[in-house]
Amino acid sequence: MGNGKPIIQRVGDFLDEKRSKLDTFYDRNRWFNKVNPTLEPGKFVSPGDIRMAYPYKIIKSLKEALIKLNKIFDNTILKEENLLYAPEIKFYSFKYKTNKFLETSIKNIYVAGDGAGKSRGIVGAAISGMLVAEGMTDDE
Ligand SMILES: Cc1cc2nc3c(=O)[nH]c(=O)nc-3n(C[C@H](O)[C@H](O)[C@H](O)COP(=O)(O)OP(=O)(O)OC[C@H]3O[C@@H](n4cnc5c(N)ncnc54)[C@H](O)[C@@H]3O)c2cc1C
Repeated sequence: MGNGKPIIQRVGDFLDEKRSKLDTFYDRNRWFNKVNPTLEPGKFVSPGDIRMAYPYKIIKSLKEALIKLNKIFDNTILKEENLLYAPEIKFYSFKYKTNKFLETSIKNIYVAGDGAGKSRGIVGAAISGMLVAEGMTDDE
């Protein structure tokens, strides 16, 4: 959706349920010129609509989090000019079965770690690697 780049969206556009666009990204009328992104829009990030990139449940939780953070951080979060990035989507894989050592239905083919969709963090990835090692060295 971002042409291979992370999506960037002004909080103002996000709350108005509009996509951010390159030609209005620094719109003075909406105070958008007050915050400049470190990553240049169009070059390193693509202005767009992160609501299109994530499931509704995630967007709803994101909105709730922003509202709560805004209370904690003294009305500094829900400013029109602030920026939201949508860089990464991670999902667990439920599509293929493995045994307790993460061996797939193809004998001697094991999967481990985030890339295989079997973990989502350092500890899970490490444990999945240990399980695979155990499976490979298992004499049974
Ligand atoms: C910015 C950031 C912050 C994070 N913070 C946390 C955190 O606080 N806590 C937490 O639990 N997790 C965190 N994570 C997630 C955590 O880093 C990953 O879940 C974990 O590193 C996954 O481990 P892995 O071994 O599955 O994959 P990786 O660590 O991604 O290892 C995969 C390896 O395979 C190599 N590789 C890729 N393709 C090939 C190829 N074709 N041939 C040979 N080698 C290849 C890669 O170079 C890489 O070294 C963070 C991730 C990021 C990006």
